Amino acid sequence: MTSQETWQSPIAPGISWYQATAGERPVYPALDGSRTCDVAIIGGGYTGLQAAYNLAKAGVSVVLIEACRFGDGASGRNGGQLGTGQRSWPEELEEQIGYERSKALFDLAEGAKRHLLDFATEHQIDIDFMPGQMNVAHKASYERAYRDNAEIAATRYDYPHAQFMDKAETQERLGSRRYFCGVRDTGTGHIHPLKLLIGLARVASNAGAEVYEMTKATSIRQGGGKVTIDTPRGQIVADKALIACNGYIENLEPVTASHVMPIRSFIGATAPLSDHPGVISGGEAVADSRFVVRYFRKSKDGRLLFGGREAYTSDNPRDISQHIRRQIAEIYPELDNVEITHAWGGSVGITMPRQPFVREVMPGVTSIGGYSGHGVMLSNYCGRLYAETVIGRSGDLDLFKSLKVPPFPGGSAARAPLLFLALSWFALRDKF
Ligand SMILES: Cc1cc2nc3c(=O)[nH]c(=O)nc-3n(C[C@H](O)[C@H](O)[C@H](O)COP(=O)(O)OP(=O)(O)OC[C@H]3O[C@@H](n4cnc5c(N)ncnc54)[C@H](O)[C@@H]3O)c2cc1C
Repeated sequence: MTSQETWQSPIAPGISWYQATAGERPVYPALDGSRTCDVAIIGGGYTGLQAAYNLAKAGVSVVLIEACRFGDGASGRNGGQLGTGQRSWPEELEEQIGYERSKALFDLAEGAKRHLLDFATEHQIDIDFMPGQMNVAHKASYERAYRDNAEIAATRYDYPHAQFMDKAETQERLGSRRYFCGVRDTGTGHIHPLKLLIGLARVASNAGAEVYEMTKATSIRQGGGKVTIDTPRGQIVADKALIACNGYIENLEPVTASHVMPIRSFIGATAPLSDHPGVISGGEAVADSRFVVRYFRKSKDGRLLFGGREAYTSDNPRDISQHIRRQIAEIYPELDNVEITHAWGGSVGITMPRQPFVREVMPGVTSIGGYSGHGVMLSNYCGRLYAETVIGRSGDLDLFKSLKVPPFPGGSAARAPLLFLALSWFALRDKF
């Protein structure tokens, strides 16, 4: 067993507060030798492990490989906010794809929310659920849009849990004068993401899925009606495969790599804020209106978990804590010297339209990822929907498949620098 406090993920910087508080984190073996199975899965985040669990439960033979340890990807290191609906607001989606499909996607996300919470309850995984989320505007001119958002949710999307907050209420609930209005959503909440991931790996393994850590897929190819996946010390031959590598795909498979790009996002955990009871006194999670979203929340033990700074290159900022503390102080000036006890980062897989990427990338091989910062509930559900598609029980994954997700411009050589320029421009716009 590796001590969870000292395990440093090879693919992401920092040891997270989640690692320090998740409890026992079992080690799974690496794959050594060859396997044949019905379905092979590459990537052991929520998407891959949910698919593995649901397939194994249905009697399908499944082998899953994870390049690092379960939880080293985004699923074990994220902001923990469940949110509601899709990444884009429903009224924005309506403009692109019409009311009916937008409503179907909203309802699907509500199903994803219920699925996650029911899954944790059924398998007795304590995910530290805390209710409530607030979306807040960093510009006064956004008030009309936020008012409309709450009203549209109630009247057109049958969602009565989102209430508009004026400036006074927003500032009171946040304990900050930095925001101008917001929407408070009592129908969602936030969780401890690594506890969920560790529990999910256990449940998948107990259901009969063969799951391996520290086993990187080095190639995937199709031939003779079979999919073959090579690993450093073995090979898997399967009828079907799921690529669930999200923002860590690198060069494994070119179609996914050209549609899902990694953005690095960083989080800091403060020491418990017992002297500052006014900071998010209701315990909700918060996400703001910046393009480079600042997302923060209180933990069960009263810390502020604050995420925001992003990087578009593979470099890590030299001192994550310092950057995060500076961003915290912009919202809470009284915390300008707050102690940051843990600081870490991870790769968010994003797509051009900020909608999930779900596609058959070669015969029998489906790739799913790119939830664009909104994947905690959606990835868990997409993993299950993939399994249901394989078993022939549901076609709901087709809703995502039908979304138009174009590749990033620039080809493999230029797309990272182009993205860097585009995102830096939007980040700059946030400031003015
Ligand atoms: C800092 C941060 C904050 C976030 N905050 C939120 C939030 O508050 N709310 C929200 O909804 N979403 C949030 N997200 C996004 C969310 O975490 C993801 O959408 C979700 O976890 C995706 O799950 P996944 O299983 O698809 O991918 P991941 O969890 O990223 O898993 C992919 C896995 O594939 C593995 N892999 C890659 N290549 C290979 C290979 N060749 N062989 C074997 N394995 C491989 C990786 O090691 C990785 O473990 C955040 C993400 C980050 C990084």
